[in-house]
Amino acid sequence: CGIVGYIGQQDTKEILLNGLQKLEYRGYDSAGISVLNNNGVHLFKVKGRIAALREEVDENVHATMGIGHTRWATHGAPSVENAHPHQSASGRFTLVHNGVIENYTALRDEYLKDVQLKSETDTEVIVQLVEKLSEQYNDVEKAFREAVRLLDGSYAIALMDEQDPDQIYVAKNKSPLLVGLGEDGFNVVSSDSLAMLQVTDRFVELMDKEAVMVRRDQVTIQDLDGHEIEREPFTAEIDA
Ligand code: GLU
Repeated sequence: CGIVGYIGQQDTKEILLNGLQKLEYRGYDSAGISVLNNNGVHLFKVKGRIAALREEVDENVHATMGIGHTRWATHGAPSVENAHPHQSASGRFTLVHNGVIENYTALRDEYLKDVQLKSETDTEVIVQLVEKLSEQYNDVEKAFREAVRLLDGSYAIALMDEQDPDQIYVAKNKSPLLVGLGEDGFNVVSSDSLAMLQVTDRFVELMDKEAVMVRRDQVTIQDLDGHEIEREPFTAEIDA
């Protein structure tokens, strides 16, 4: 299982699909991508292989940002409904997640009593929680930080906000996740540098429980109180 993300100048479908293909070795039962353009979010999911996802993706949809996922089901059977990305009730937020949210039933019972969940996954609780908290705070970055603060368990997550096509939100805890730095107006996100070596070899390591905002020309790392953290990138070794 693994996650990828891209925000830049080029059409993102192929970059996401190629990245997911490189993560195939980690094992998975379903896969999906979502991309955001001026017409909104476009979501493609399948049970099965990346080749099947490639068939499912509409070639005519062009977008310069998106997120992708290969799923190894832990909560809810492998199916299209349970495949990621997952969306919030209004459709505003879209999220991919690897790992296990250990307190998802407690979060659901405390914050999401009035929300009709669409899947059986622990993951959906995260994206619904972000929507709830963003209504409460009227500040998506704060909502994202507070949602991360509430999560127990392991996760690598990437989130898109339909109302902000210039930013992907990411966070991790006990699951691997890197931000890859592009040379000319793009940045990427990946569980493994291997998935993105075709587009960059410069990466920034993320620490547990940080909130990271990835834009085309900038990466901002914050602690969960919103204080900025500086971190130097490293260059990944490419195996010949
Ligand atoms: N726990 C999540 C699910 O079952 C994510 C699994 C994964 O890491 O792929 O959907």
